[in-house]
Amino acid sequence: MEILKDYLASTQGKALNAEMLTFTANLDQVAKKNPEVAKRIVKELVDQRSNLKLIASENFCSLGVQSAMGNLLTDKYAEGFPGNRFYAGCENVDDLESMAINEAKELFGAEHAFVQPHSGADANLVAFWAILRKKIQLPMMEKLNQTNLLNLSKAEWDEIRQKMGNQKMLGMDLFSGGHLTHGYRHNASAQMFDSYFYNVSKETGRLDYEALRKQLHEIKPLVFLIGFSAYTRNVDFAEMRKLADEVGAVLMVDMAHFAGLVAGGAMTGNANPIPFADIVTTTTHKTLRGPRGGMVLCKQEYAEYVDKACPHIMGGPLPHIMAAKAIAFEEARSPEFKTYAKNIVENASNLAAALVERDINILTGGTDNHMVIINVSGLNLTGRQAENALRECGMTLNRNTVPFDTNGPWYTSGLRIGTPATTTLGMGKAEMVEIADIMASVLKNTTPTKTKKGELSKANYKLDEGVKADSIKRVKALMDKFVLYPEIDADFFAKYFTV
Ligand SMILES: *Cc1c(COP(=O)(O)O)cnc(C)c1O
Repeated sequence: MEILKDYLASTQGKALNAEMLTFTANLDQVAKKNPEVAKRIVKELVDQRSNLKLIASENFCSLGVQSAMGNLLTDKYAEGFPGNRFYAGCENVDDLESMAINEAKELFGAEHAFVQPHSGADANLVAFWAILRKKIQLPMMEKLNQTNLLNLSKAEWDEIRQKMGNQKMLGMDLFSGGHLTHGYRHNASAQMFDSYFYNVSKETGRLDYEALRKQLHEIKPLVFLIGFSAYTRNVDFAEMRKLADEVGAVLMVDMAHFAGLVAGGAMTGNANPIPFADIVTTTTHKTLRGPRGGMVLCKQEYAEYVDKACPHIMGGPLPHIMAAKAIAFEEARSPEFKTYAKNIVENASNLAAALVERDINILTGGTDNHMVIINVSGLNLTGRQAENALRECGMTLNRNTVPFDTNGPWYTSGLRIGTPATTTLGMGKAEMVEIADIMASVLKNTTPTKTKKGELSKANYKLDEGVKADSIKRVKALMDKFVLYPEIDADFFAKYFTV
């Protein structure tokens, strides 16, 4: 009770707020076990409060969502799905999971929702396996007149196993913005599928639907997968449905990045994948602003296969995270979230425009969603150098490959930035222009050093000291005005732990 006692003493006469009391009590429990762990939590709070979070895949969830995650629900096993569990005593988890499912269906207008995946990668495995079971395993079992895998002979089982492992998937190439779980050779998905990739057009940097059609007709994949973590343009999902139908492919969409924009109504009509895709996967912690986790939304015909993620792919779900998902989905149904989603997109557009005005090279010249991708190769920099120089100035973001990148996935030629987190803090157009101005000035005043051989280094650089000092000051001014979790007195903890 040490922190709590000291905090109460420090607030003598002042009104106490509930969030601060809860946070202090929780931290007190952690510190009693291990102060070094508690200190890292505080250091992270201070870090996220003092650096500008421009990572496109990150956000700040509400304290309500955080509190729903940190409690005794974590102790409950609940393999199965609501009403069908392999364990006793799951009544409360049944209720919580059903709440999250209903909220998700309502939020996205989906026929079916499965809220157990622990992450986006998990959700993709669940979806892949549901498709393979429904499309390959089930017809083979019917032909054998069998319903139970355990009754198959070894030869029959081997035939099914091999056929399931030999199906084709067409997904977006990693360098064009696709995700490693979409058939990248270093990921298990490349063993589950015979994987093929499509790229963005070299000329426009956008998806080329005619080229896609040609590839689909050549490959005739079982799964046509659309999804990306570094692509800034809307996709016409009605057109994708048509293309998938031409070759009889299952249309799967991984909306991990833009789910919040769909939920908030900033991506509607043909840009919303839900009405068109057979199966949609997502994370819940990116633009959707919920707890770290994943989800599958699907048409009714895939529901029973998706719900059987345990035993197919998963063990027990995380009841505490499902509770937090229920809260986050409800938040996402509010009118405030609609405004939030609209503001994310407006902020990204304004950020892109302000960068272009400052002669920074943006892929496709702008954005339709929450992210902007910068090509820094014209400044003689690698993504790694740019990422490090900006972090020195208090801007947290990540380097990213650009299509047909010649610097490889470690150094890269690009930067990916996004507006979900800064929009959560309440920033708007003026702040986006200020951020673009700081970024442009840092990038233009960073130069690669020369290697011993006289070549330009891909890792080392020199950043102008004056520009650095000025940028740090400007970032601090922004962070002082837009405070993360203003209810929480981070300075008190920082002093307490001498962070
Ligand atoms: C982030 C992301 C994932 C993976 O999510 P994790 O929760 O990190 O596993 C999957 N697909 C896409 C398109 C993503 O952007």
